[in-house]
Amino acid sequence: APAPPPARHLFGDPAEVEALRGNLLAWYDRCKRDLPWRALVRGDIEKPGPALLPAVWVSEIMLQQTQVATVIDYYNRWMQKWPTLQALAQASLEEVNELWAGLGYYSRGKRLQEAARKVVSELAGRMPRTAEDLQKLLPGVGRYTAGAIASIAYGQATGVVDGNVIRVLCRLRCIGADSGSPAVIDRLWDMANVLVDRSRPGDFNQALMELGATVCVPKSPLCGECPVKQHCQAWRRKLFGKPAPVPDVEDCGVGDCPLCPPAMEPWDSSLGVTNFPRKAAKKPPRAMRTATCVLERRGCHGAPEYLIVQRPSSGLLAGLWEFPSLPLAQDLQEEKEREELAGHLQAWMGWPVAAKGLQFIGEVIHIFSHIHQTYVVYSLQLDGDVTPDPALSPSRWVTEDEFHASAVSTAMKKV
Ligand code: SF4
Repeated sequence: APAPPPARHLFGDPAEVEALRGNLLAWYDRCKRDLPWRALVRGDIEKPGPALLPAVWVSEIMLQQTQVATVIDYYNRWMQKWPTLQALAQASLEEVNELWAGLGYYSRGKRLQEAARKVVSELAGRMPRTAEDLQKLLPGVGRYTAGAIASIAYGQATGVVDGNVIRVLCRLRCIGADSGSPAVIDRLWDMANVLVDRSRPGDFNQALMELGATVCVPKSPLCGECPVKQHCQAWRRKLFGKPAPVPDVEDCGVGDCPLCPPAMEPWDSSLGVTNFPRKAAKKPPRAMRTATCVLERRGCHGAPEYLIVQRPSSGLLAGLWEFPSLPLAQDLQEEKEREELAGHLQAWMGWPVAAKGLQFIGEVIHIFSHIHQTYVVYSLQLDGDVTPDPALSPSRWVTEDEFHASAVSTAMKKV
C-alpha cells in the first residue's frame, strides 16, 4: 500500500477541524448568496404529498459547466413547470429539450428526466436518500451530485468535491500534485468526508463551495477576507515564506511526496496561493468542420419558413433540431465542400440540387467543451414545396419565431 501522505497535507487535528467548521459556517450564515434553490429546504422536501423535486438536484445538474447567473432563469422556469417528480416524469423529451435550449450539454436535461421517471416507476416515487444509493440508482447522478443531494436535501454527513472544493482544499493543504489525477481526487474526497460538519452537512458543503466561488477564486483570491485563512497552509507559505510546521514544500518528510508540487516546478513566490491547485495540461479541442444549409421557402402567409431536422437520439446534441448539416473532412476545397453538401441535400430531398445554387453566407465558430466546430453556412431558396423522405430523420418547416422556441442549440441560433 502507498505510504500515507505527510501530516501537513491532511486534517489530523480534531480541534482544528472543529474550529474550521465553526469559522466556515459562521461566515456562510452571514455572507451566503441569495439563490433560488436555497429557498427550498429539507423540511419542504419531506412534507407529505406529491414528492417535490429536490431543488439541489436540478440546480446542481444545471450548474455543471454553467455559470450561476445563467442558471437562475432556467432553474426558475424548470421548477415552475415541473415542481414534483411526477410532473417531470410525465414531461416529454421535446419539452425538456425546449426548456433546456441554450444551456448546453443537453444530455443533462434528458438524464434528469429519465431519473425522475425511474424514481416514479421503479422506486414507488421515493427518492433514494443516501449518496451511495443516489449514485447507484439514478442515471446522470455521479459522485459529486449524489453527495450534494444526500447532504443538502436529506442531511447525510457526506462530503462533496467539485472544482471549487478542489481549489480550496488544495490551497488549505498545499496540494500541488496534478489535481485531476485519480490519486489526488481520492485524497480530496477523504478530506471532504473528514471535514464535513456532522450536524449541518448540507450547509457545510455549500459553504465550502461558496468560499471557492466568491473568496478563494481562481485568479485573485481574497485571502484577507477569508474566514479560514488561519487554517490555510498556502496563505501561511505566502506570508512567512515557509509553511508551518514543516520547513519546506520540497522537503515534505518522505522524499517523493505524492501530494507536493513536482520537484521540477516548485513554489513560485510571484504566484502566491495560486500556486495551488495545479493541473496537467489539457488536450486541445478537436477541430471539426460542418457544412450547414438554411433552406428557405415562402410559407402560406408569405412569411419565410426554414427547414429543420432532428439529430439522432444519441451523441453530441442528441435529439436537438438543426438546419440540414453534413460533417466535412478537414482541408477540403470550398468547391468540393459545396458539392458534398449539394449531394447530401439531393439524396435527402429527392430533388436535384445544383452546387452552384447554394449561396455561401459565412462561417460560424462554436466551441463545445472538446470540439472546436466551424459551421460553413450556405442558404438555398426554394420555390416549390419540399417534403423530405419520411424514412429519413424527422423534419419540419418553422418560422423564425418557431425556430427560436424549438429545441435548437446555441450553435444553430448563431448560424
Ligand atoms: Fe483560499 Fe486564501 Fe482562504 Fe487560503 S486564505 S483558503 S488561499 S482564500
